[in-house]
Amino acid sequence: MPHLVVNELRAKYGALDVLKGVSFSIEKGQVVALVGPSGSGKSTVLRTLVGLTPAAGGHVMIHEDKIDYASNGSLRRARDQIAIVFQQYNLFQNMRIIDNVTVAPTKIKKRPKAEVRADAERLLAMVGLADKHNAFPDQLSGGQQQRVAIARALALHPEILLLDEVTSALDPELVNEVLDSIRQLAKDGMTMVLVSHEMAFVREVADKVVFMDGGVVVEEGPPEQLFDNPQTVRAREFFGKIL
Ligand code: ADP
Ligand code: MG
Repeated sequence: MPHLVVNELRAKYGALDVLKGVSFSIEKGQVVALVGPSGSGKSTVLRTLVGLTPAAGGHVMIHEDKIDYASNGSLRRARDQIAIVFQQYNLFQNMRIIDNVTVAPTKIKKRPKAEVRADAERLLAMVGLADKHNAFPDQLSGGQQQRVAIARALALHPEILLLDEVTSALDPELVNEVLDSIRQLAKDGMTMVLVSHEMAFVREVADKVVFMDGGVVVEEGPPEQLFDNPQTVRAREFFGKIL
């Protein structure tokens, strides 16, 4: 039984069909990379999985829990189990780093303060920011802020982590420190779906690449297949062009 099954997921923006039935699955502890041209629907897949964009059809299974996005109870369960990190990390500028990480678990999840605090310290250490607890976001580099955003998402104890181009807004010399944190998470067995243009990184870390174009999955398989021996003309064009 896969950890996450996305089955015929559909989404629209007004009259525009953006996801036309997207299906893929991911095993527990694996990393799936969504790859494809700009506008192919990658972000919409991630946004739909956490309920930020309403699904127009299809369903998702998390373990054996069927998520029906039309029901509020389902949506709550999806949000309990799946966390997302965006390209724009949007930290709370007026809060110290430690408070950025602890605010949601204490205020929304109502978990005990001391426990959340210990958890946040562990997570900040994991992303290499043990010494930045009391800093404010504008005292950190973009790469450091993005690592805080990852720690903040993990503080919610998600089963599954979604990462949407989390290095795309960073200066090139800061990309690697964020990729290192993601590598560490992959090693620790976090189930992740990531959208990334860092193809060398995708190749290294992904168990499966899902190539999307025009709101559908065109081809999926292990990175070696997609990069070295794509089975579809469209994937061959795309990977031929970008590699
Ligand atoms: P990707 O992440 O692969 O670049 P997106 O999921 O962002 O693609 O976008 C898929 C399609 O949906 C594109 O045609 C895009 O223009 C459109 N789209 C995305 N967000 C919106 C929105 N908020 N309103 C209208 N159209 C949108
Ligand atoms: Mg996108």
